[in-house]
Amino acid sequence: MSAESYDIVIVGGGTGGAFAAATAATAGLEAVILERKPAEAAGHIACGDAIKGTKTFPEVIDLDYLKAEAFTNQSITRAVFENPVDDTNIEIGFRGPGAVLDRKRYGEIILEEAERLGADIHYDTVVQDVVQAADGTVTGVTGTHNGTAVEYDAEIVIDAAGALSILQDKTDFAGSFFDTNVQYSQFCSAYREVIEVDEPVEWEDALVFKPTKELGYLWYFPRTPTTINVGVGFQMDQPEMQMISAIEEDVESRPELVNPRVVDKLGAAVPTRRPYDSAVAPGYVAVGDAAGHVNPTTGGGIPGAAQSAYWGTLRAINAIERDDVSETALWEYNRDVMTDFGKHFAAIDCYNIWGTAHDVDELTEIVSSVPAQHLADAMAGKDTGPMSLPMKLKTIKNTFGHWEKLIQLAKVRRKASELAAHYDRYPTTPGGFPAWQSIRDTIMDDIYAIAGADPKY
Ligand SMILES: Cc1cc2nc3c(=O)[nH]c(=O)nc-3n(C[C@H](O)[C@H](O)[C@H](O)COP(=O)(O)OP(=O)(O)OC[C@H]3O[C@@H](n4cnc5c(N)ncnc54)[C@H](O)[C@@H]3O)c2cc1C
Repeated sequence: MSAESYDIVIVGGGTGGAFAAATAATAGLEAVILERKPAEAAGHIACGDAIKGTKTFPEVIDLDYLKAEAFTNQSITRAVFENPVDDTNIEIGFRGPGAVLDRKRYGEIILEEAERLGADIHYDTVVQDVVQAADGTVTGVTGTHNGTAVEYDAEIVIDAAGALSILQDKTDFAGSFFDTNVQYSQFCSAYREVIEVDEPVEWEDALVFKPTKELGYLWYFPRTPTTINVGVGFQMDQPEMQMISAIEEDVESRPELVNPRVVDKLGAAVPTRRPYDSAVAPGYVAVGDAAGHVNPTTGGGIPGAAQSAYWGTLRAINAIERDDVSETALWEYNRDVMTDFGKHFAAIDCYNIWGTAHDVDELTEIVSSVPAQHLADAMAGKDTGPMSLPMKLKTIKNTFGHWEKLIQLAKVRRKASELAAHYDRYPTTPGGFPAWQSIRDTIMDDIYAIAGADPKY
C-alpha cells in the first residue's frame, strides 16, 4: 500500500470539500481532496441548482469569478407555490435576488479555485475506511486510487463525503459525542432532470414549487428561460413515489413547456433533519450533508456545506497549530453551526415533524383556507397587518373544521422558538453537552406530543 501524508485530508470534492480545501490551503496547510469521481465528472452532482446568491458563501475563493462562470440566472426575485386545490398560488418576494446555477460548472470552478490556492486534488480515489489510533483519534483514511490501495495520514480528516457518508459507518465514535442517531427516515430521496424547451417560459424570475401527495414537492427552477431544472423529492418515512413518472406527467401537463427534452438526470439522498448534535470527534470533523447541514424544508444544502466547511476547517487549523486535535479542541465548531443556521434548521424541522403527522390533502386544505396574502407574508416573516372584518369572517368560515390543527400549529411554532433559543445556549465544551441535550430532548418530546407525531430521532 502506498502512503501519503497531509495536514488535512478532505474526503469528497463537493461544496463542503472544495471550501474546506480552499480554507486550509489559504492558511498555508498541506491539504488534499480525495474524490471518487474522475476529473471530468467533477461537479456533476444532483442538485436543484437554486441558491440565494453569493452572500452566503465564505470569501475564500474568487466569488466574482464563480458568479460569472456558473450563475446562469441571477434574476430570481420570487417563489411561487402552486396550490393544487385551486388557482390561488402563493407568491413570496425575496429580500435580495436569488440565482440558479449550472451545478457542473459551479463544481468545476470551486475545485479549480481550491487547486489555485494550493490544495491537491486526487480524483478516482475511493475512500473505504478510516485509520484510528488506540485512543480512538482518527489519523487518516484508506482507499483505492485507480484500483491501487492507498493510505493517507492526516492530523485531521474532514468528512465532506455528503449524505450517508461511508466514513461514519467505519469510524468507532465510542468515547466522543459525535451524533450517530442518524436513520434513513430522516432523509429525503430527491431526483432532478434538466430539460430544454423551445419557447422561453414567462416565469424566468421565479422558483416554482408544487406540493405532491407524497408530502414532498415538485420544483421548476429556470437556469435560463429555456433550460429548466425540474425535480421532485419525498421524505423517506413516507410511502415511496415514482419520481420519474411524477416529473413526466407534470411536465406534460404544462402547455408553456414546449417540446421538452431531457438533457441530464441525477438523483441522491438529502438529509432533511436537524444538524448533527455534534459533528466532531478526535481528529475528525464532518461538514455539509455529512453533518446534516441542510434546510430540512427546502432541501437547500449548498450554503450550509460552504459555511460549515469554512468554520470547521478554521477550527481544525487552530487545533493543528496548538497540537491538540481532541474533541474539546474542535468543539467550538459545533457552536459556530448551532448558534448560526443550526438553530434555524432545528426549528424548521419541527414543522416537518408536524407536517408528517398529517396527510397532504388536509395540509393543502388548511393552506387554502387562509388568505393567500396573509400566508405569503407569514411565510416571508413579514408583519401581516390586521385583517378587515369581512376578511376575518371569511377566514373563520373557510378554516372551520381545521381550528384544532391551526391551534396545534401555533403551539408548535411557540415550541420551535423555544428550541431555537435553546440552541443559542449550545455548550462551549463537551462537558456541558449531556445536560443541554437532555433539555433539548424534553422540548422535542413536547413537540411530538402536540403534533401527535412519532419521534423522529
Ligand atoms: C436532487 C437534489 C436537489 C437539490 N437541490 C438543491 C438546491 O436547489 N439548492 C441547494 O442549496 N441544495 C440543493 N440540494 C442539496 C445539495 O446538493 C447538498 O446539500 C450539497 O451538495 C451538499 O454538499 P456536500 O459537499 O456536503 O456534499 P456533496 O455535494 O454530495 O459532495 C460529496 C462528494 O463526496 C464524494 N464522495 C462520497 N463518498 C466518497 C468516498 N467514499 N470517497 C471519495 N469521494 C466520495 C462524492 O462523489 C461527492 O463529490 C439538492 C440535493 C439533491 C439530491
